[in-house]
Amino acid sequence: MRFSQTAILFFVTFATCVPNASGADEIPVVVDERFTQAENRTFKTFDPQLEQTWKHPFFFMQLADTQYGMFTGNKGFEKEAALTQQAVEHINRLRPRFVIVCGDLTNAEPKHARYRAQVAQYHQDFSKVDSEIPLVCVCGNHDIGNRPTPKSIASYQENFGDDYFSFWVNGVCNIVLNSSVLKDPTGAPDVLAAQQTWLDQQLRDAQDAKAKHILLFQHHPLFLAKEDEPDQYFNIPLERRTSLLDQLKQAEVRAVFAGHYHRNAYGRAGAMEMITTGPVGRPLGKDPSGFRIVTVHEKNIQHKYYGMDDVPEKIDLTKPAKP
Ligand SMILES: [Zn+2]
Repeated sequence: MRFSQTAILFFVTFATCVPNASGADEIPVVVDERFTQAENRTFKTFDPQLEQTWKHPFFFMQLADTQYGMFTGNKGFEKEAALTQQAVEHINRLRPRFVIVCGDLTNAEPKHARYRAQVAQYHQDFSKVDSEIPLVCVCGNHDIGNRPTPKSIASYQENFGDDYFSFWVNGVCNIVLNSSVLKDPTGAPDVLAAQQTWLDQQLRDAQDAKAKHILLFQHHPLFLAKEDEPDQYFNIPLERRTSLLDQLKQAEVRAVFAGHYHRNAYGRAGAMEMITTGPVGRPLGKDPSGFRIVTVHEKNIQHKYYGMDDVPEKIDLTKPAKP
C-alpha cells in the first residue's frame, strides 16, 4: 500500500510537472488515491464504526476557494499555487486530524479549456500534504457550474469523488452537501431531491448514534449574517434556505462551514453557527488569504481564521474550552 501510494505520487508529480505551469491545457490529470476517498456517500479513510466513539479533543483545518486561475482570469495560477503551497506547509507542521477544502478548488469549470491544467496543479500541490492527514474536498459553483447538471457533477466526481457524503471523526458526524444544487436546482432537480432524502436519513442516524456534534460543510453559505436576510449571490435562496435551516436546527446541528464569499462572515440560526471562511486564493475583502482552525471539544467547538502569515506554530488542545 505504502509503495503503491509512493509510486502514484511520483507519477502524479512526474505527469504534472511542466516548466511553465501557467498554460498547458494538455497536462494529464492523474488522480491520486487521496482524491478518490469520497465514494458511496462516505469518506473511505475514516472507519465508520471506530470513529463513532469520542476519544479526545482534536482539531481540523477548514480551507476554501483555492480557486486556481482566479487572480489572472485563467491565464495562469502561480499565485494560487504559491498560496496553497504555503497552506500545505502549515498543514504538515500543525498535523490536523483532517483538512477540508470547501469548494471552488479551481476557477475554470469542467467545460472550460483551462480546467484540466488547474485540476492537475491542485492535485500536485495537495499531494504534498502528509499521507497520514486526510484531505476532504467539497464541490463549489466553479467546480460544477452555476447551474450544475448530471454531466458537470460527473466531471467533478472523476477528479475529486462524491459531491455529497458524510463521515464520522472521533464521535463527530460531518456532513458534506452539494450546495450548488441548493442554489440552482434547475439543471439537476433529481440530484437535489436525492440529496435531500439522503440528508434526512443522515441527520436521523447522527442523532440516533448520539453524535457529540453534527457539523455541516458546503461551498455556499446558507446566509452571511442573518438567517432571514434577502436572497443575493452569496447565499442560498430563502425558498430553499428556510426549510433547510428548520431541519438543521431541529437536528441540533452545531455549525455550518462554508466559503464562496472570499472573506469571513458569521451568523447564527438559533444555537447553530453559520461560519463563512475567507479564501486560500484571492481575497475580495479585508481578510487576507488564509484558513480556519477548528478545535473540537466534547461539549463545544472553537474556531479562528488565520492569515497565511499569521498562523501559530502549534495548536494547544489542553486549554479549557469555553462554555
Ligand atoms: Zn463560489
